Amino acid sequence: MDVCLTLDYELFLGERTGTVDRCLITPMAKLMESVDTVGAKFTIFVDATYLCALKHHAADYPALANDLEKIQSHLRELKEKGHDIQLHVHPQWHYSTFDGQRWIMDSDHYKLSDLDEQEALSVFTEAKSLLDGIIDVSTTCYRAGGFSTQPTSLLTKLFAQNGVVLDASVCPGTRYESPQQSYDYVESPKYGPYRFDADINVPQDDGRFVEVPITMCRVSPFFHWRLALNRLLKSKSQQLFGDGVSVKTTSDSIYQRLLHYTDCMATIDGYKIKFLKKAYLGAKKAGNEVMCVLGHPKLATPHSVAELKKFCALVSKNNDSFTTLSSLLK
Ligand SMILES: [Zn+2]
Repeated sequence: MDVCLTLDYELFLGERTGTVDRCLITPMAKLMESVDTVGAKFTIFVDATYLCALKHHAADYPALANDLEKIQSHLRELKEKGHDIQLHVHPQWHYSTFDGQRWIMDSDHYKLSDLDEQEALSVFTEAKSLLDGIIDVSTTCYRAGGFSTQPTSLLTKLFAQNGVVLDASVCPGTRYESPQQSYDYVESPKYGPYRFDADINVPQDDGRFVEVPITMCRVSPFFHWRLALNRLLKSKSQQLFGDGVSVKTTSDSIYQRLLHYTDCMATIDGYKIKFLKKAYLGAKKAGNEVMCVLGHPKLATPHSVAELKKFCALVSKNNDSFTTLSSLLK
């Protein structure tokens, strides 16, 4: 089995965005230390709409010009080290403003389907061109902000016009509806990769695009009680490197997790890395070709980076290999 470690390289999108150093630069260095021992490379989905926002406001605010500069050299360095830089889009950045101290985040345009089609196309194209220009590579893989890819007709139009061929946003078997996010992957195949075209949930042999779904794991309500307790205890090893605030999870989704077994994304984030091994063994047992793991530098903790190192050693010991999404395309 190939294991693909993916990261969404972004600030927080809630009331406080956090800083470039704490959400991106510092945790990336820690995460790289963890995977370097086995030579694994990350697929890094860069929130390029944020970079566009920095660019738009850089002339007015030197601090933002500095952030953009810092990120540009960081991305070039990550590319030099062999990591796979790809595209992530959170369109709300296009509508957010900076007051000289902090970002005032828009909350009405969280996903591309909140925009009219021409606007969505223009935001997507601008983000991709800026990112491609920074790393001097034409990106071909994508993860939707908030995993919200639908409607597929809009997604495939954006892909076709921008040379994107692979998506890695589907969370099989799940559905989520919040003021920001909206997706329904209840009917999607459990494992990938698979080709699709008309409907992201329906494999189509002659489809123009490839889906690599995120690997899911059945998680007990007891785990989520422990997670909640852990957040209350605030132990040092479980403190996030990131210094912002996330968008709120719906209360319905929290109740579901605390009361029932739920399908959760295999992740390296914070305390949730505890079920990564179970997800990996499950994917292996099911004969999965590719395991796609989710992560965010901003949500890394001292504990999670230490556990990631152990996980990498386990994968290598089992003679499984690490891959990136663009190498899967080859
Ligand atoms: Zn994101």
